[in-house]
Amino acid sequence: MQIPTDVKNLISEFERCGYSMYVVGGYVRDMLLGKSGGDIDLASSAQPAQAEAVLKNAGVSFVETGLKHGTITAVINHTPYEITTFRSDGEYSDSRHPESVAFIKDINADLARRDFTINAMAYNEAAGVIDLFGGQEDLKRGIIRAVGDADMRFKEDALRIMRALRFASQLGFRLDDETAAAALANKELLNNISAERIFVELVKILMGKNVLFVLSEYREIFGVIIPELRPCFDCAQNNPWHIYDVYSHIAHAVAASPKKPVIRLAMLFHDIGKPLVKTTDERGIDHFKTHAEKSADIAQRILERFKAPNAIKDEAVALVKYHQTLEKVDDIRPKRWLNKIGYEYTADLFEVRIADLKAHNPEKIGYEVQKINGLRQSLAQIVAAGEAFRISDLAVDGNDLIALGYHGREIGERLNEILSLVVDDKLPNTREDILNFLNK
Ligand code: ATP
Ligand code: MG
Repeated sequence: MQIPTDVKNLISEFERCGYSMYVVGGYVRDMLLGKSGGDIDLASSAQPAQAEAVLKNAGVSFVETGLKHGTITAVINHTPYEITTFRSDGEYSDSRHPESVAFIKDINADLARRDFTINAMAYNEAAGVIDLFGGQEDLKRGIIRAVGDADMRFKEDALRIMRALRFASQLGFRLDDETAAAALANKELLNNISAERIFVELVKILMGKNVLFVLSEYREIFGVIIPELRPCFDCAQNNPWHIYDVYSHIAHAVAASPKKPVIRLAMLFHDIGKPLVKTTDERGIDHFKTHAEKSADIAQRILERFKAPNAIKDEAVALVKYHQTLEKVDDIRPKRWLNKIGYEYTADLFEVRIADLKAHNPEKIGYEVQKINGLRQSLAQIVAAGEAFRISDLAVDGNDLIALGYHGREIGERLNEILSLVVDDKLPNTREDILNFLNK
């Protein structure tokens, strides 16, 4: 184990003043996995006021970040370290918050309140790794196991169900049988947890390397936090393009996409409306006309419910809505697209479509992928050549229109009209040509 010198010194300082202090939680886990980086959380027997006194004495600056729970953040060489007083949690009445916390002298009970064995280890140089619950063994075996009685721990705090899936996805681990059974049995308690906190964990799950396994194995849990997914479970897609039901296709498409939150969210929602528009023709072939628009509406609703940041919501919804437009690659005018949804969106839209195709029948996708790669190239060329597709790319701006006597909304309308002509190659993007056109 290697911990930074600043942390070693801080621990020595606390010990000199008669307190114990350890690195705890995620940092210990990640060190044992051979991963570096990440925030360092510290736990100490010093109560908040005592910890403040030690820090003041040592000339270390700090902020009080959660005094009620005994948390102070020390800042050393611009790096923040959270210091939390050893505590045991009191009774939980709402699957969310303990009624009280009690500060304690000993690290053992503090480790016992932590969620999973791999997160319940402590370290300092004198003591080495303190591992009371077999965390190191579980790390070796790739197991997420609740500390203590899994059923009780999820009843205390249902967010731990999401955290279990999150660590499984990030680390490529499996849930221990008892932990898995308890997570499934208590899944409805997730309805007590705030949407924002669930969303944070959901995004982390989607970004994890083991997301396909987690989405597939624990789909019932995803059906609680996103009930709109339920109709996708086992919804057959009987046509030559598909080899999976709608939900399995979604899970494969998420896993096949680049690790960018907005793209992974778009993949999760891209076909969510399919069950609602499914028709079967006389030959028994399934069709899903207008499913992209339908899915976009549902995605909008879900992301609003999760209180997702607007930028994420707007782009994810757009990606869902347009995810099929690339089918008609031959009719598409690349610049129109750039104009309509911007370069960033357009580049992401390619990723969405390629991930979508990868989750189709592999025998059917070669031609499509080729077309899309071709179009992707021509878009990159347009951008590299500096061709106009945004208002800001035009050779004139609002001031020119004001000088010509336009005002208010007219200015934007005229600029859009000009851009439209330029994008369609009907008007060259030079100052002279545009001013001539406006003077006509
Ligand atoms: P990350 O690397 O993502 O920060 P982490 O394990 O450090 O992972 P945090 O959310 O930062 O996760 O929490 C720090 C530690 O606090 C955890 O390792 C765990 O010991 C404990 N912890 C956090 N949330 C809970 C919870 N809901 N129930 C019990 N213990 C928790
Ligand atoms: Mg952490």
